[in-house]
Amino acid sequence: MKNIQVNAGSSSYPVLIGDGVFGKLQEVLEASGMSPSKLLIVTDENVNQFYGNQIESAAGKIAGWCKYVTKSGEAAKSFEVFYDIQTFALREGLDRKSVVLAFGGGVIGDLAGFFAATYMRGIPFVQIPTTLLAHDSAVGGKTGINHPEGKNMIGAFYQPLAVIYDTAFLRTLPLDELRSGLAEVIKHAFIKDKDMYEMLHSKVRDIQFLSQNLLVELISMGISIKASIVSEDEREQGVRSYLNFGHTLGHALEKLLGYGRISHGDAVAAGMIFALWLSEKTNHADLKLQENVSWFKELGFPVSLPDDISSEKFISAMEKDKKAESGVIYMILLKEFGRAEKHAFSRQQLLELLNEWRAEVHR
Ligand code: ADP
Ligand code: ZN
Repeated sequence: MKNIQVNAGSSSYPVLIGDGVFGKLQEVLEASGMSPSKLLIVTDENVNQFYGNQIESAAGKIAGWCKYVTKSGEAAKSFEVFYDIQTFALREGLDRKSVVLAFGGGVIGDLAGFFAATYMRGIPFVQIPTTLLAHDSAVGGKTGINHPEGKNMIGAFYQPLAVIYDTAFLRTLPLDELRSGLAEVIKHAFIKDKDMYEMLHSKVRDIQFLSQNLLVELISMGISIKASIVSEDEREQGVRSYLNFGHTLGHALEKLLGYGRISHGDAVAAGMIFALWLSEKTNHADLKLQENVSWFKELGFPVSLPDDISSEKFISAMEKDKKAESGVIYMILLKEFGRAEKHAFSRQQLLELLNEWRAEVHR
């Protein structure tokens, strides 16, 4: 088992990672001085089907509990569901001494976290992630829901009491979801840890055969990197933007294909390949582009963009990204493996470079 302490400026909390750490829920609550008046489990229908009984019996040993089960997927991050949980919690008599258990992937973490941040001006919550992608979202305190005008537009920075990351839950995770999470693990290595990148490159060749030990290692390393960046820059003024590596184009791709048509990680993977190409071009660095393209293909990631969407459309979508600033598009590039930087491009510049990359891919 690994235990990582995350310092997020305003608070500090433990992240427990391992095969079977779910059994420590009670201990973790006690250690943080909590004796909850009631527990609210928030989960989705898939996770509930696999592990609903398990979480109910763990909760039952601690306090009275109630459970809110949403449909699965991004659609759960809506005003309607958010409002419905508030109603449910009020009717169940949750008070300021109650604790929310966010049991699921990133969607549940964002939704239940935002609920916890706002219910009676904020009640504590524990994250119990069940996807690999959630190693990214479970750290950093971003919670929120979507607005029809854009993803994650309504939310709050709100830190959990603890994160309990039991890798045993990942056994039932569909392969596409596992691959999606792996993209963020690779991203963390690219921007901050050359040795980790080399380890991944040599050990992670087939997603189907990731051992529990390796998963614990990948999640721990990913979380440590994310935690160190977030503790340096909780509100995203500086280095936190490095976490956006692969995301400027990745977000545009997700948006243009329509959310849900491509996984977040697949979109980010294609974005990272462009970012590597762009880094080699801009920084004259050797980032082993071809090797990485082959590795990504082997893992099942897309390494180019769909032909039927114009570069013009990609650039426009990138300009509209929440993180864009007017007139320029910022891209996170690498100087070398493990060292990122923020680089500004004009719209026209980036359009030409994107066209050049896409033409090269086809050669
Ligand atoms: P993320 O944003 O972390 O990818 P989501 O909450 O969107 O997470 O979950 C992705 C999908 O995987 C959803 O359909 C969810 O119901 C499902 N899921 C989450 N955890 C598990 C698990 N441990 N086993 C099987 N399916 C899971
Ligand atoms: Zn991401």
